[in-house]
Amino acid sequence: MQAQFSRLQRLSRTQPIVDWATRAEQLDNLETMLSDSQHSLAKAISSDFGYRSESETQFAELFPSFTGISHAKKHGKSWMKTRRASISALYMPAHNEIQPQPLGVVGIMVPWNYPLYLAIGPMIDALTAGNRVMVKMSEAAPKFAEAFAKAVAHYFSPDMVSVVLGEVDIAEAFSKLPFDHLLYTGSTAVGKKIMAAAAPNLTPVTLELGGKSPVIVLDDANLEAAVNRVMMGKTLNAGQTCIAPDYVLIQRQYHERFVELAKEWMQKHYPNIENNQDYSHIINDAQFKRVQGYLQQLPADQLQPLTKADADAQTRLMPPVFVANPDPDSEVMQNEIFAPVLPLMHYDTLDDAIDFINARPRPLALYVFGSNNRDIDKVRTYTVSGGVCINEVILHVAQHDLPFGGVGHSGIGAYHGKAGFERFSHMKPVFVQAKFNGMNFLLPPYGELFKKGMALLLK
Ligand code: NAD
Repeated sequence: MQAQFSRLQRLSRTQPIVDWATRAEQLDNLETMLSDSQHSLAKAISSDFGYRSESETQFAELFPSFTGISHAKKHGKSWMKTRRASISALYMPAHNEIQPQPLGVVGIMVPWNYPLYLAIGPMIDALTAGNRVMVKMSEAAPKFAEAFAKAVAHYFSPDMVSVVLGEVDIAEAFSKLPFDHLLYTGSTAVGKKIMAAAAPNLTPVTLELGGKSPVIVLDDANLEAAVNRVMMGKTLNAGQTCIAPDYVLIQRQYHERFVELAKEWMQKHYPNIENNQDYSHIINDAQFKRVQGYLQQLPADQLQPLTKADADAQTRLMPPVFVANPDPDSEVMQNEIFAPVLPLMHYDTLDDAIDFINARPRPLALYVFGSNNRDIDKVRTYTVSGGVCINEVILHVAQHDLPFGGVGHSGIGAYHGKAGFERFSHMKPVFVQAKFNGMNFLLPPYGELFKKGMALLLK
């Protein structure tokens, strides 16, 4: 790993210019690799999860990867151009430019929940920005990691991209390499360790972390529409999604209707959940036990299963369960859930709901359902979260024209599309002086002309 890093670093210093043709070729490689390997990669993911349908992998991983590549191929050439920046009249006729340059070697650390898209997404941005890339795959999705490493080795020169496999000790060593930028996606707890490991090298980090993303259901929301979207977001990948709705804030009088609609929704979209071919399983025993542990600590009358099926420790199938207004100090409300368990927290006034959110760490995403623009605007204005969807969940992550990232404990920095290109570039400011200019008037000895001029400027 160290030798490979040193090699990439040396290449990035001796061959710092990566033209558009080379960058486009990397994006083509990525596209061909995914086209050729999509079925085997989806199979490997399913095998790591115990089961995940290929349709879900297509929808949540392959689709945003392919569209991200197309977006970068369409715009990358113009993003990398040196561009004029405006200049104050006081410095004219000089002019300003911004010259994007590759940073060098970018490290990418991938979690297990969407191991394909969360490797490919950052790779698209880093390669479009002309960098060389090292990717550390998650040890919790080992079959996919191995298949991905093989595919990358086949389609890429090791001078551009290489993949690192291994357990947590390797991940720790990886995070200590003196990358020119390190993007880490994973939990907030490990994110703190990554930042500490990067600090001695002054390696800049992008931390794509997690947290509890709330949904506010306003009193004028169309409940059926809200349930439809919230359930989509909570059942996708069995809730193992960083921007899945973590809990819902709802007024008490709408609670039972919300639950009824959710049960009907499950019946319609995931009938016969024990053998449903569209519903994912939980990644491993540790995650399964963690979430079941949260449920075991709650009073039985707070648990509202949406189906008749029980969770199965053998197959790690976990059907969705609502939790009725749990104690905010309970584990289910103290930790990111990351599974198909959804607390419905009751609020009285919109101010109470906003205060509840603001009393907790800044969420990665926030969702609001309702029709009254004044209330929606109030939620947008008085809360701070990584991103927001209005009358929708999750889809902001798929917008290549929007930056994606967290804020506070949910992350540092954003990527995707142009924001990602700039994240992995040095946006170098250049001041270009004109042949004839007024700078000599500012030299000492400071005479009358200088003094009069300064008096005018400082007025
Ligand atoms: P994790 O933090 O356990 O692991 C992520 C990566 O960190 C793995 O590759 C692992 O090898 C590495 N790692 C683990 N311990 C390490 C250490 N001590 N030093 C260095 N590296 C170490 O996260 P996870 O369980 O794989 O993923 C789930 C978390 O990721 C959730 O919190 C979720 O919200 C978050 N997430 C965030 C996003 C986002 O885009 N913001 C996307 C997906 C997941």
